[in-house]
Amino acid sequence: MPKPATIAIDGPVAVGKSVIGSLLAQRLGYRFLDTGAMYRALTWLALELGVDLEDEKALEELALGASIELAAEGVMVGGRDVSLDIRREEVERGVSLVAKVGGVRRALVAKQRQMAQGGQVVVAGRDIGTVVLPHAELKLYLVASAEERARRRHLELVQRGQEANYEQVLAELKRRDKIDSERVLAPLQPAPDAKVIDTDELNIEQVLAEIMGIIGGC
Ligand code: C5P
Repeated sequence: MPKPATIAIDGPVAVGKSVIGSLLAQRLGYRFLDTGAMYRALTWLALELGVDLEDEKALEELALGASIELAAEGVMVGGRDVSLDIRREEVERGVSLVAKVGGVRRALVAKQRQMAQGGQVVVAGRDIGTVVLPHAELKLYLVASAEERARRRHLELVQRGQEANYEQVLAELKRRDKIDSERVLAPLQPAPDAKVIDTDELNIEQVLAEIMGIIGGC
């Protein structure tokens, strides 16, 4: 059986889409596209330029004109590497607001479809299986409890030497999940034909093994 050419991975905040997606892409010799990084990059740019995050028209114009690239060396905005900046707290706080805007989504989804052309690609996000690539050959939807996701994210921050409070991490993650799930456009939800993987009790290697098993049986 041929391997699926296009693989969509969706799921809530901090469920491991980026880690799993990039390792899976490595194993398959595919490219990896982290669409969340694009929404973050646009949010970073809006903050940098002092654009009001409630101004939908301005955000749409920014999204249409911005040069956002997911390069091998990092996330680039207008040629500048913003890989670290887009993980900052103020970007984290604003990104779900920016991602709700219709014009922003239209602009970024068009870019994402273009980048995924040609296949041999793993694409991670919230709406990949439902909106961006509804014909992806394989759709995965990762889930884990909010507490487990907060535990992982908290550990990650501590390991990076950042100050972090578990309760705050949990509250922020729930806040973002709520906006992402309740928005009118492309809300976070599994595609009807997605394979749902509950990762609560699984480590990264085990999730990858499960996905490789599914691919073997595709
Ligand atoms: O995946 P990550 O947490 O980096 O995504 C940041 C935010 O970008 C999400 O909380 C969501 O609001 C938005 N997003 C989206 N659609 C995607 C990917 C991310 O709306 N495909």
